[in-house]
Amino acid sequence: MLPVIALVGRPNVGKSTLFNRLTKSRDALVANYAGLTRDRKYGEAEIEGRKVILVDTGGISGGEEGIDAAMAQQSLQAIEEADIVLFLVDCRAGLTPADQMIAEQLRTRSKPTFLVANKVDGVNPDIALAPFYELGIGELFPTTATHGRGVRTLMQRVVEDLPEQAEPEAVEVATGIKIAIVGRPNVGKSTLVNRLLGEDRVVVYDQPGTTRDSVYINYERDEKPYTLIDTAGIRRRKNIVESVEKFSIVKTLQAVEDANVVVLVIDASEGLVDQDMHLMGSVIQAGRALVVALNKWDGLEDDHRQFVKAELERRLRFVDFADIHFISALHGTGVGNLYQSIEAAYQSATDKLSTNHLTRILQWAVSEHQPPLVHGHRIKLRYAHAGGQNPPVIVIHGNQTEHVPAHYVRYLEKTYRKALDLHGTPVKIEFRTGA
Ligand code: GDP
Ligand code: GDP
Repeated sequence: MLPVIALVGRPNVGKSTLFNRLTKSRDALVANYAGLTRDRKYGEAEIEGRKVILVDTGGISGGEEGIDAAMAQQSLQAIEEADIVLFLVDCRAGLTPADQMIAEQLRTRSKPTFLVANKVDGVNPDIALAPFYELGIGELFPTTATHGRGVRTLMQRVVEDLPEQAEPEAVEVATGIKIAIVGRPNVGKSTLVNRLLGEDRVVVYDQPGTTRDSVYINYERDEKPYTLIDTAGIRRRKNIVESVEKFSIVKTLQAVEDANVVVLVIDASEGLVDQDMHLMGSVIQAGRALVVALNKWDGLEDDHRQFVKAELERRLRFVDFADIHFISALHGTGVGNLYQSIEAAYQSATDKLSTNHLTRILQWAVSEHQPPLVHGHRIKLRYAHAGGQNPPVIVIHGNQTEHVPAHYVRYLEKTYRKALDLHGTPVKIEFRTGA
């Protein structure tokens, strides 16, 4: 399970700067769901070789009037979900009442916390850092997030406190294809989970171990084992809480990471929204097999259906390998058909691919359409072998492979997808130059 690191601190101390530096990305997932008063950003980062989820809470303000309750609540949820908290303060601004209030909040939570004294550039550290020691919270690390100074030292220390990389209990007891049901709040995830488990042909076993709030449910359908990763956590809670509260991006990202196949649920009555696209992006980035479920298809007028279909056609081109199902979790329509796509995606994602076969496809692809010249020399692609499963990784060896242009990579991807009849899974092509 990916560990979670939360960045907290009042606005303007440098959280986003540090976040961007660590994730090296601008396309972070942003939680701006209705009901959330302030944005929270989520991204994956690799820290000293460990993959983690980074959360920029952005949310604890302060100032004279104190911490805004609703905002603080969102940040506190992020802290609750975190394994480690980085509490940022601003050396130039000095210690403020808001910092003290945040420190107060953190003290009652006993999470491993590091105090990051940012913007230490251009100030005298001896003088500037002194007041922050008064906070009495965590080890103190001076940094300059804009230039990265001190960041490595900080992260080398942070990584020591990350939880062990041990496989979670749940993974060991998972008996079948791991299916994660994900989607933004209110799209019908809980309804779908209930529907999937409530089918006549389904035998649900005792709940195995749970991780965070996701619940792993083993069951059999037509004598085939499956494990459902239920991010909505409905099976555990007696009364269904507010969707916004039960929804968590951390949970979602972890479920995606741990799944074999992701079923992304979209609310057809609302059409495709940006958050659906962001979630889809995360699934692809994680390399997970994907099945798209357009839920609440019941009760939609014909012209509305046509509109949604056109939208899908237009905006989902980049995931044209994924099956799309139009379902009603509420009535059960189309739900059983999801399994065909789940099975096919899983098979494709985990197929054993022989070096021979992959190399023959490569040679064919190259003969059909040669790679371009670079400085007068043609890029040579010699042979290919499998480099991993779920997603399938195809490693191609050759010369000047670092110059293979993006369009040619897409061509190879497409050729492999077709030749191997891969369905429902992203494919990763990697290159190695040399023998
Ligand atoms: P956030 O509101 O906590 O996310 O803060 P930002 O990351 O948006 O940073 C606020 C401002 O402080 C921006 O103008 C940053 O460029 C600047 N900043 C961030 N880190 C540093 C630093 O280490 N030194 C200096 N001088 N400025 C910084
Ligand atoms: P979650 O937040 O994604 O778990 O969403 P829920 O399963 O709690 O569903 C949110 C709301 O949408 C509930 O009122 C459901 O009854 C409703 N809903 C779920 N699936 C369907 C469906 O297929 N059709 C219709 N019309 N409503 C649905």
